[in-house]
Amino acid sequence: MKERAESKENRLYVSVLTGGWRFTVPAEIRKVHGWGEGLNLFASVSDDNSLLIGDVSPESGEGVGCYLGSGGKMVVPRELRQTLSWKKGQRLAISSANGITCVTPCCPQKACRSCGSVKGVTEVIPGLYLCSECFRTYLARLKA
Ligand SMILES: [Zn+2]
Repeated sequence: MKERAESKENRLYVSVLTGGWRFTVPAEIRKVHGWGEGLNLFASVSDDNSLLIGDVSPESGEGVGCYLGSGGKMVVPRELRQTLSWKKGQRLAISSANGITCVTPCCPQKACRSCGSVKGVTEVIPGLYLCSECFRTYLARLKA
């Protein structure tokens, strides 16, 4: 029997869409599905602007073949780009359930609460977004 990592299947991963319509399928998701480099997968667009990826063509026959490159790099098939209103730099939430991997655009990049920059911003504590520079300042201030 194939071992299934159920708890991992519902986790959410974040990737970023690059200029070449490329994003990374997280290693954990590839592992759960047993997806290796060079595999041909099938992608389709859902009603809510998400990209659905599976290793079998959807029954509707609407899946477009897409190739899983090294390191989980995947290029959104040209045929689907117009349907998806994604933009370069778009943050993507990737989750997987029931054999289908769902790639959904997630909330726009948060701005640093301290300086307003959107570069290198992380949620340092729930609800508080800081850029790496301000976070360093913040930590230094805590230690002082
Ligand atoms: Zn900042």
